[in-house]
Amino acid sequence: FNNVSAPIRQLHRIYDEMNDAMIYSESFFSIINAEEETETSGNYIPTELKGEFKIENVDFYYPNGLHALKNINMTIQPNKITALVGLSGAGKSTVINLLDKFYLPNNGKIYLDGIDIEEYDTKYLRENIGLVLQKNHIFNGSIEENIRYGNIDATEEEIIDAAKKAYIHDQILLLPEGYQSKALLLSGGQQQRIAIARMFLKNPPIIFLDEPTASLDAIATEQIKNSLDAIKKGRTVIIISHSISQIIDADYTYVMKQGEVVEDGTHDEVYKMNGTYKEIFDAMAKSLNIDKIAKTMDDDD
Ligand code: ADP
Ligand code: MG
Repeated sequence: FNNVSAPIRQLHRIYDEMNDAMIYSESFFSIINAEEETETSGNYIPTELKGEFKIENVDFYYPNGLHALKNINMTIQPNKITALVGLSGAGKSTVINLLDKFYLPNNGKIYLDGIDIEEYDTKYLRENIGLVLQKNHIFNGSIEENIRYGNIDATEEEIIDAAKKAYIHDQILLLPEGYQSKALLLSGGQQQRIAIARMFLKNPPIIFLDEPTASLDAIATEQIKNSLDAIKKGRTVIIISHSISQIIDADYTYVMKQGEVVEDGTHDEVYKMNGTYKEIFDAMAKSLNIDKIAKTMDDDD
């Protein structure tokens, strides 16, 4: 497993995710099929999923030797929103990569409801995790197929409902081929909304949102906010975001710096530590005000 290069492993991961959706995408299949499956999967399937992750003394090195996570400890509670905050390169996305078993830790353990995630059936794990990543896994198929991947048994109505919640339905209808249009031809922001629609359709108990609105403009972000707020209730949610409202909304925050957890607590607690969180938060607030001032000036024209 550890000898496989990152791009190939990424393909394996996508392969795993797309396994059931392959019927839709022969060309995609032929690329992936050339690679040998190397990932190990346990066979543990719990009778009930509570959704509590514990990360204990985890170190992680990328295959090129980069020490991306340094003795990380986190508790991700069910029915809570946990925010990961840190500058670019701090290791936030890497944490999600490990929780999703895309990579295994070099040291330490990750537990889900008290059981080492290595023991879990990987397919089961991923069926219960909804991901919206910085770079989304849109595959070579129609928009409908890409949304349907969230639940291949979904009805047409359910697919449309998910697209509406992701505020992409109206734009899909404007395309000459509608839901049958090729998803890869969409813009980055539209693809991100397809991935969000897929997650709404999947409706999983565990949700990881890695900058889910990063490619969206202010209006689209504002539109999706309510749908995202609604789905965040009553699940295990991890959010990585540059949006102040999405960060403040979190029940608990882990602040990361150069692969380490440097602060953790509620928003008020970490803000009062006068460290990394305050610095980042104040910078976000400042840029938000600059946006507001710019908008006010526009309005005056
Ligand atoms: P964040 O999400 O906080 O911006 P990442 O978790 O993406 O940070 O990255 C943490 C560190 O790991 C960074 O130094 C980044 O350059 C490095 N990194 C990320 N992905 C890879 C990879 N596939 N191979 C090698 N290094 C990587
Ligand atoms: Mg990241």
